[in-house]
Amino acid sequence: MKLELHWKILIGMVLGAVLGIAVNWQWSTRVTELQSGLPAGVQQATIRDSSDTIQVSWIDELGEEHERIVDPTGNTPGGVMTVDDLAKTSPLAAELYERAPSRAKQIGKWCKRIGGLFLRMLQMVSVPLIIASLSTGILGMSGASRFKKMFSATLAYYVATSGLAILTGLAVTNIINPGLNTSLKLDVAQAQVHPATLTETLMQQVETMIPTNPFAAIANSAFLSVISFTLLFSIFTLKVGGEALVRMRQLADDSFQVMMLLTAAIIGLAPYGVFLLMIYVTATQGIAVFSALAWYMLAVASGLLFHALVTLPIIVWVLARRSPWALMKAMSPALLTAFSSASSNATLPLTINNIEKRAGVSNRTSSFVLPLGSTINMDGTALYEAVAVLFIGQLAFGANMDLTQQIAIALTALLASIGAAGIPHAGLVMMAIVLQAANLPIEYQGIILAVDRVLDMFRTSVNVWSDCCGTTVIDRLVPPATASLDGGP
Ligand code: ASP
Repeated sequence: MKLELHWKILIGMVLGAVLGIAVNWQWSTRVTELQSGLPAGVQQATIRDSSDTIQVSWIDELGEEHERIVDPTGNTPGGVMTVDDLAKTSPLAAELYERAPSRAKQIGKWCKRIGGLFLRMLQMVSVPLIIASLSTGILGMSGASRFKKMFSATLAYYVATSGLAILTGLAVTNIINPGLNTSLKLDVAQAQVHPATLTETLMQQVETMIPTNPFAAIANSAFLSVISFTLLFSIFTLKVGGEALVRMRQLADDSFQVMMLLTAAIIGLAPYGVFLLMIYVTATQGIAVFSALAWYMLAVASGLLFHALVTLPIIVWVLARRSPWALMKAMSPALLTAFSSASSNATLPLTINNIEKRAGVSNRTSSFVLPLGSTINMDGTALYEAVAVLFIGQLAFGANMDLTQQIAIALTALLASIGAAGIPHAGLVMMAIVLQAANLPIEYQGIILAVDRVLDMFRTSVNVWSDCCGTTVIDRLVPPATASLDGGP
């Protein structure tokens, strides 16, 4: 019996998680005494690695003892929260640690590297696929009026669903109060994040939409720039019309067919990629930090689940008149890959393939809504920004923030989600602007760093799910007509 792809991916994911947890359980603790081959000035060193804390101690040439600790919960005075911070504050301690990480971390690192090959393949096809798919979609359009309608309906959908996601996030956090239910402390957060102002971030987005060199944008995988240039190029091809349009349309169609076939071949590797990425995540994560942040994670996860399983399905049901569950089943390979890769951009080739081949939505809609959505429509990220900042506010002030501040958080969370790239941890980086809007120091986000990867997996699936739901809605509200082209031959 031949298993369907989504079952294979699910099995890969579960097996990977189980194996990773076993690896973590068995091999996450290691105590190593280093006596020889040490860096200059170090006589002897001891590294105690566990899934929750890392302790690096050494004796220098004068016989003095030194110690550095990495504790993601922030509860160790003088400790740092990540290995990256350790490298910044004490490069020597980081160098010593690199010589003796636990076996679980070593296994995790290799699984990430090999699973990363699958993500590289997806990234390899994403830019050519966006160009081919978007130009086929636009060149096959029945007229400029459909494009305009589709454009405004798509933007309206993006803003409306992200807004609903943020409201859900705020409601859930006000009910669960994760920041008032924890023993976590804030004062040792060490995260170094470069602050960006809101206007600066938005202006950068607008600038990205006008690439000074479209070829450089293609070379750098700048999705938004590639999308805007491909749109312009296709619209002006429609205006030129005649033989040129016929040839360009043929070229776009042919390239699209080739890219879809290549993508389908890569997708066959998804179960293995997902398997390895799940081992990486579960083998390297500590348990203690999860319990310390349990209420916060519960708030994010329940908000995301509500949005994905209640709000979006209702929208699909009412506006697209489709069964949300059938759509979810059809899109499951993409959703599961989004979960394990934590990247909407990397998942995009699968999303395009699934929506056309498994959900039967027209390429004329999906080629526009999906690439744009993977860059700017991020319901999961928007919800997460709102919950995280409200949580940090509860921790900092020992009380809930007032309504004005919550409104400021809602608005900036929306803009932060638009500005976030579809790559792992992008939402965390964008959080700086939401924290600033709430008058909170950006260093405070150090407290949630340790669990960001897991939450990223959930929010990325919701980001992709919202793009898929949006595609079905737009496809029904602005149906692709088959009439002849404006400016056509
Ligand atoms: N990883 C998310 C995505 O690719 C963005 C985020 O970090 O929230 O959609």
